[in-house]
Amino acid sequence: MKKVAFIGLGNMGGGMAANLVKAGHEVVAFDLAEAAIERARGNGASIAASAGEAVAGVDAVVTMLPAGKHVAGVYADSVIGKAPSSAILIDCSTIDVATAKAVAAQAAGAGYTMVDAPVSGGIAAADAGTLTFMVGGSDEGFAKAQPYLEKMGKAVIHAGAAGSGQAAKIVNNMLLGITMAGTCEAFVLAQKLGLDPQTFFDISSKASGQSWSMTSYCPLPGVGPETPADRDYEGGFAAALMLKDLKLAMEAAKEAGAYTPMGGEAEELYQRFVERGGAGKDFSALIKMIDDSWQVPGDA
Ligand code: NAD
Repeated sequence: MKKVAFIGLGNMGGGMAANLVKAGHEVVAFDLAEAAIERARGNGASIAASAGEAVAGVDAVVTMLPAGKHVAGVYADSVIGKAPSSAILIDCSTIDVATAKAVAAQAAGAGYTMVDAPVSGGIAAADAGTLTFMVGGSDEGFAKAQPYLEKMGKAVIHAGAAGSGQAAKIVNNMLLGITMAGTCEAFVLAQKLGLDPQTFFDISSKASGQSWSMTSYCPLPGVGPETPADRDYEGGFAAALMLKDLKLAMEAAKEAGAYTPMGGEAEELYQRFVERGGAGKDFSALIKMIDDSWQVPGDA
């Protein structure tokens, strides 16, 4: 049994911490929100009065926070210098590559081993322990983090040096945003040209236009396998989170000097969709905005 500090027990962290408890670890939890603390207590974690208190004497620190500024703040104020230097530091939040690298460098400077380990998979996968982790850090960091991540996920992949986990995550999600926007456009155009949507799916999903967005996550209800489209776009990957990841990808592209016109276009589309009330809907609901004969969520 290892002692693990878990900071940030919201939608994702709550289920992940519960899986570490189920695996037999002693979990010491801290969150700013009372509801998150109560849920963690109910799931068998002990509760610390502060993040600094949570990390005292632990073997590992896991964080699952909203954005880069929260991660930078928590590590600088409450983890570095307070956790034992032997503890492996694991940040599972989705944040910008630059902050991930900077926090890892700060941790390394103070004698810690740290990895960035963002996830693919939503709240259901966090609860079920079936997340996929993309890990950035040294071989030693990966080896130390792996046993903990395996208790929360179905796949743990070493992406490369510090920041590579975040890079893999946002580049993958940029491609997902692009293929989904393209798939939405294709279905709308097919229908306007008089093609039956199911017939177009049957053809394109076996032809060169196919992608995961079409064959596994079709944005049209009643076509292809069951997807959030069949549940009025509820319970999938929220458009607001897709927009967050596209913004991170565009920020990283700018810093790296990469030309990403399609990513920029997808960001603009999701920005408009979120502004028009689609934030909480699954990201495939973008088709409602592209097809002007449908009503966009929030439109009167
Ligand atoms: P959330 O807002 O539900 O949870 C974040 C938690 O962090 C909250 O409970 C908040 O109170 C806590 N927090 C914020 N600042 C804190 C601080 N200084 N100290 C302690 N606790 C603090 O968010 P979430 O949906 O769980 O997402 C967490 C991360 O996972 C994000 O980076 C998100 O992009 C990523 N992610 C989310 C999903 C998803 O489907 N929700 C999927 C993949 C990745």
